[in-house]
Amino acid sequence: YYTDIKEMEHIEELGNGTCGHVVKMKHKPSGKVIAVKQMRRSGNSDEAKRIIMDIEVVLKSDCKYIVKCLGCFITESEVWICMELMDTCFDKLLKRLKQAVPEEVLGKVSVATVEALAYLKDYHNVIHRDVKPSNILLDSKGNVKLCDFGISGRLVDSMAKSRSAGCAAYMAPERIEPDPQNPDYDVRADVWSLGITLVELATGVFPYQDCKTDFEVLTKVIGTDPPSLPKDKDFSTEFRNFVACCLTKDKKQRPKYTKLKNHIFIKKYQETEVNVGDWYVRALESVGDRAAIRKASSPE
Ligand code: ADP
Ligand code: MG
Repeated sequence: YYTDIKEMEHIEELGNGTCGHVVKMKHKPSGKVIAVKQMRRSGNSDEAKRIIMDIEVVLKSDCKYIVKCLGCFITESEVWICMELMDTCFDKLLKRLKQAVPEEVLGKVSVATVEALAYLKDYHNVIHRDVKPSNILLDSKGNVKLCDFGISGRLVDSMAKSRSAGCAAYMAPERIEPDPQNPDYDVRADVWSLGITLVELATGVFPYQDCKTDFEVLTKVIGTDPPSLPKDKDFSTEFRNFVACCLTKDKKQRPKYTKLKNHIFIKKYQETEVNVGDWYVRALESVGDRAAIRKASSPE
């Protein structure tokens, strides 16, 4: 799609992560505005080949719950991954709103995430490994999409050669303390991360917020009961149960996607219409975020 890096014009920074940053850019010949993830390269000679193979997987991905990848640039020192531009992510949104996300919106978030993760596993044999609010994007049309799978995970692997891909705070117990008999983690690690994400979005606060260091978080994940939705708040039984299933500490007891897709919370929100776009615009209005509202109502 995009062939000449000189045709790309920097518009603004969208955010920083552990393995790079994301920039809003314009493709000058077409006028199209997109998001570009820019990462430093490790310099390993096989790396470029692997990145291209990964990108091919993503380019072929055709799932409405996955952010579309539009191609990539590989220079001597950097890899740029071009993707469709969304309005924001749930991490930024939560910080801006400083209030919980309603259950019905989280119903749609759960459907989108479970469908996206199941699709990646079934069609591309990819495990995400970094499910968290900043990797769940949304727009004012009400689309909810997952991003940052496969490529970034494998890239981090090739760079660091470690198990450290992913954010400590959302990491499943079996990734922190692998079973020596069965050290590989599977899709269920992503299911745990989804559970933590839902508790955070449903309450407005990160469940291990009192911890001062990553080490303290990891110790708590292993040593205490899993987080759950607070009893004094008004959540449905289905939602509480769905979160409890995702946050089953023993990975062997934790459901995989086939089972999750049949959970009544997922079934309910596959069928129920929720106007996520409308909620998003109203939520911005309620905090008086005029700049964001303008952007949301006039997409490029
Ligand atoms: P992290 O996900 O760890 O926060 P990233 O570098 O992956 O770090 O992303 C940084 C920020 O860029 C995210 O918080 C997200 O809000 C934003 N972002 C990423 N991809 C897109 C996209 N396709 N459209 C709009 N914003 C994006
Ligand atoms: Mg990300």
